[in-house]
Amino acid sequence: MAHEHEHVRVAVIGSGFGGLGAAVRLRREGITDFIVLERADSVGGTWRDNSYPGCACDVPSHLYSFSFAPNPEWPRTFSGQRHIRAYLEHVADVFRLRPHIRFDSEVKKMTWNTELLRWDIETTAGNLSADVVVSATGPLSDPKIPDIPGLESFPGKVFHSARWDHDYDLAGKRVAMVGTGASAIQIVPSIQPEVSRLTVFQRTPPWVMPRVDRAISGAERSLHRALPVTTRLRRGLLWGIRELQVQAFTKHPGELGFVEQLAKRNMARAIKDPALRAKLTPDYRIGCKRILLSSTYYPALAQDNVDVVAGGLSEIRGSTVVAADGTEAEVDAIIFGTGFHVTDMPIAERVVGADGRTLAETWKDGMAALRGASAAGFPNWMTIIGPNTGLGNSSMILMIESQLNYMADYLRQLDVLGGRVALDARPSAVNAWNRKVQERMKRTVWNTGGCTSWYLDANGRNTTVWPGTTTEFRRATRQVDLAEYAVLRPPAAKVSPVDEAAEVTA
Ligand SMILES: Cc1cc2nc3c(=O)[nH]c(=O)nc-3n(C[C@H](O)[C@H](O)[C@H](O)COP(=O)(O)OP(=O)(O)OC[C@H]3O[C@@H](n4cnc5c(N)ncnc54)[C@H](O)[C@@H]3O)c2cc1C
Repeated sequence: MAHEHEHVRVAVIGSGFGGLGAAVRLRREGITDFIVLERADSVGGTWRDNSYPGCACDVPSHLYSFSFAPNPEWPRTFSGQRHIRAYLEHVADVFRLRPHIRFDSEVKKMTWNTELLRWDIETTAGNLSADVVVSATGPLSDPKIPDIPGLESFPGKVFHSARWDHDYDLAGKRVAMVGTGASAIQIVPSIQPEVSRLTVFQRTPPWVMPRVDRAISGAERSLHRALPVTTRLRRGLLWGIRELQVQAFTKHPGELGFVEQLAKRNMARAIKDPALRAKLTPDYRIGCKRILLSSTYYPALAQDNVDVVAGGLSEIRGSTVVAADGTEAEVDAIIFGTGFHVTDMPIAERVVGADGRTLAETWKDGMAALRGASAAGFPNWMTIIGPNTGLGNSSMILMIESQLNYMADYLRQLDVLGGRVALDARPSAVNAWNRKVQERMKRTVWNTGGCTSWYLDANGRNTTVWPGTTTEFRRATRQVDLAEYAVLRPPAAKVSPVDEAAEVTA
């Protein structure tokens, strides 16, 4: 039976903060002809997939949430995964997004159709086309497990922090935790009391600051409910503090020495053994890698059933895990807290642009987009949390909302131009933007702090972090500058004088 071809104005990919935010914004712009394609069977993205013990945000909840959907009910200053996931489910309901969402629809490939000026999209649930694609597949959504010799023949249990196996009982088990990043430092104190032995493989020690987490009292919540302005004030204060702090990261890394002293004191309070303290003391400037927040990580490491191995996992022999420094331990389970495919954005393999090349090929020497959103040769395609939009110290939701402003203006501009039309970022504009970003990056702590982090790509280039304030990014993404784009019309269409002025390329 022949099916009618489905075409929508906008196809959003992903239903995390980025995709749901895009859906809300589209509706607010009066656009209802859109769908949200999601490979999983529920919304939430990061907060659906990461359900490991202790999983919580490390930016206060009142800032780590949408400005247009304040939540007076946040239970803690740093709420847990369960509550953040519930919040996103609530957003999907309140803003009536469900009719737009297609679950179990993984985007396998999208190809720019140069004749019809549209994206032809193949999903696991069928094909469709769209005028515009908004890709919100997440910066940290595809787990990365290192290629460790012997892993395939390990007889015990293996899983990644973002794919926690809740059916596996860790009680009484000998466990290897590989990695000491943001997820691992939440997992370690949560599982340490129940496992018989915990061996933590640490390639590079993180800087860890105390986590000032507390329950938000009933009185505070009542106040936020009764006077919504207080929620906004709270958010504004949290934002302002981080906005001021960021200057130290981007311009004056030398000033961060004082923060290192605070972090060292946090360690010294719990770690009394000088040898262990030495192992845990970083040798790079604080902030170079993401600063982690925990008041329970060091106390957990100090327990008798925990060993910290100052070296990465290099080999597995049967059920024995072997570190780079030769240390061995026999374990029942290996948990990888080894992060995600960040600088090699997986969706890029699946996007085929105007010249038939994939975005991954275009980005083979490093990701680069115009204002973190669009790439030359990929018309009417934009990404939410694209290259150089990450933050080292504040809420990603601020950046997502800036990109949604850009998306809204992009669609408005297409409307103004009228007819079948597409915008293609000019290579000169993409280059100019990235030159500026990389120039500013030179003096940031991420580039000068003396560490190797997941912010850097294989060539050592920082293609993930935004080297400025969120206000600067908000300003840079308020409007689409048409001079930065070529306006495309279908090859056969007659060219109008307006378009000619804007340089027509088809
Ligand atoms: C454990 C953890 C804690 C974090 N804590 C913080 C924090 O405290 N503060 C902060 O600012 N940031 C934090 N982050 C970063 C976080 O990723 C972002 O803040 C934000 O949640 C990203 O939202 P997103 O919608 O862009 O991506 P995601 O939430 O990752 O959503 C992407 C969605 O796209 C879907 N998808 C991917 N590929 C396809 C495809 N091919 N087809 C269809 N669907 C697809 C995925 O299934 C997923 O649902 C954290 C990340 C992790 C992993």
